[in-house]
Amino acid sequence: MIFRTRFAPSPTGLLHLGHAFSALTAYEMARAAHGTFLLRMDDIDRVRSKPEYEVQAKQDLHWLGVRWPEPVMQQSRSEPRFRAALDELAALGLLYPCSCSRADIDAAAGAPQEGVPTHGPDGRIYPGTCRHRSMESYLEGDAVRLDMAKAIVAAGPLPQFTETGAAFEGRHTLQAEDLLTTVGDVAVARRGMAAAYHLCVVVDDHAQDITHVIRGEDLFDATRIHVLLAHLLRLPVPEYHHHRLIRDAAGKRLAKRDDARAIRLFRDQGATPEDIRAMVGLPSS
Ligand code: GLU
Repeated sequence: MIFRTRFAPSPTGLLHLGHAFSALTAYEMARAAHGTFLLRMDDIDRVRSKPEYEVQAKQDLHWLGVRWPEPVMQQSRSEPRFRAALDELAALGLLYPCSCSRADIDAAAGAPQEGVPTHGPDGRIYPGTCRHRSMESYLEGDAVRLDMAKAIVAAGPLPQFTETGAAFEGRHTLQAEDLLTTVGDVAVARRGMAAAYHLCVVVDDHAQDITHVIRGEDLFDATRIHVLLAHLLRLPVPEYHHHRLIRDAAGKRLAKRDDARAIRLFRDQGATPEDIRAMVGLPSS
């Protein structure tokens, strides 16, 4: 079996213990499968991505013992691929431009109703204000959304995916009702950006021939969007492994702003790579 995986941090901050665990998990799963581990820099957000974070991320990963072939793919260089994917979805009639700000969306969404989810893997579930618009009315600065109801029809029989992580292990089939109510019309391009995260990840994973996506459990819900997009773009659906999350003492998932748990800081304080492994519950190497 071919096994190609990747670790794809966004260079918008220092890598923390959660990244260390994710990168080491992917790297060691690839090694165990005699496969390939790639590094990718998900730097599509040009405002928040900084070259110094990229340099630091590579140093930290190397220090942890992670190795990858060069060159490292830069997501920001994939813009022509993203445009081609957007054109393909637009040709299927599945996209519309959206000028709503976050405040517009909150206002249009109104008061929450009991039992109706308000947020999904793409944030606030979009209330559909701009859904009547066609791509011909696209204006500079608009976002672009996937019309989920149309996408479900275009998809035909909904695709399946395999998950090997402990929490959601098994074969999953996308469900139309679930996509409509808990995901909705996700953004595939954001204001001022060539494409949005969900589309970028699908297109770049395909460009890198990724067969196994290994990442944190917090992204399991987003996987349904990725599987749907891959299916609509007629790309192979990879196998998924969503691993446990590294949490702080209060049980909260670590975020980039948790600099107190940055690998760089532990290194400065004299920690060894083995210490980091122990902190995230990995056996010594
Ligand atoms: N670039 C994404 C992040 O930093 C991870 C890529 C993925 O979704 O697998 O959260």
